[in-house]
Amino acid sequence: MPRNSPALAARSARAAAVLAAAFAIGAAALARPSPALAYCRTSVCPETKSTAAVCAPAQPNDCGIPLAWPSPCVSYSIQEDASDQVSLAETEAIFEQAFATWTQTDCGGGQTPRMEVVYLGPIACDAHEYNQGKGNANIITFRDGDWPYAGGGNTLALTTVTYNLKTGDIYDADMEINSSDVKLSLGDDEVSFDLLSIATHEVGHFLGLSHSTDVSATMFADYRPETTMLRDLDEDDRDGICAVYPPGEPVEDCDPTPRHGFSALCAADQPDREEDGGCAAAPSRGGRGAGLGLAALALVGAAVRARRGAAARAGRERRR
Ligand SMILES: [Zn+2]
Repeated sequence: MPRNSPALAARSARAAAVLAAAFAIGAAALARPSPALAYCRTSVCPETKSTAAVCAPAQPNDCGIPLAWPSPCVSYSIQEDASDQVSLAETEAIFEQAFATWTQTDCGGGQTPRMEVVYLGPIACDAHEYNQGKGNANIITFRDGDWPYAGGGNTLALTTVTYNLKTGDIYDADMEINSSDVKLSLGDDEVSFDLLSIATHEVGHFLGLSHSTDVSATMFADYRPETTMLRDLDEDDRDGICAVYPPGEPVEDCDPTPRHGFSALCAADQPDREEDGGCAAAPSRGGRGAGLGLAALALVGAAVRARRGAAARAGRERRR
């Protein structure tokens, strides 16, 4: 088994500075869309070693190597507690549909993107993390109690993608849904913040897409409350996913195991792995290994307006 403890990696000659590149979603959402409509792929910009985007057609700020899962067989897991607003079974059904919307889309001639996404079941871990010395899971979790990031009420969900800075290979992707500030809805009646719309948008990030400049695209950065518009892909979204994972031979012997093995437990709760020479891998909750980048891509919406009632009922208010 390759030795990949953070301690060992840090000593290697190619060790690079830890990088946590936050995607400037707020700015992206507020910026005026450029006249040219384009889907965009999340990318790593070699000059800055930070998250950027590469669009088609090309946009002025394009930079770098686009991200993609290196294997056409990827897994996800759902945090077992789900949310007070949405049950685990409902969450499972929503995400099954959201992933299928992308992987079963028609790239032309009935062909679909060459990507299979496999659900590995509910898990205990609720932390977004990528572990170089321990098992991993691509988690989907709700944040019922408190939304731990800046931007609070306007951020509906956040997908954090960990990737290789040199190749753009995606190693891990975790989704967090803001069920603290946002009144989620299921189904077609009394739509508030449609979970299936939010899920479908976030799955686009999970698979490597960034925000589109096309206001009608599911990957546009802003969700309009009380709509279900993001449930279905737009032509722009289809062009994007079919470019990232072009149709090809059927995926055989699909192995969706996450890098360094699957674990239903967060790193802090996993036993240390035995390593040759007694150099055990240290837990690296939240830590970043050498040569890794982090893209945090959020969906925003006017949650502040809609959440006032909910916040008042919950006996708290947050200002931003
Ligand atoms: Zn987004």
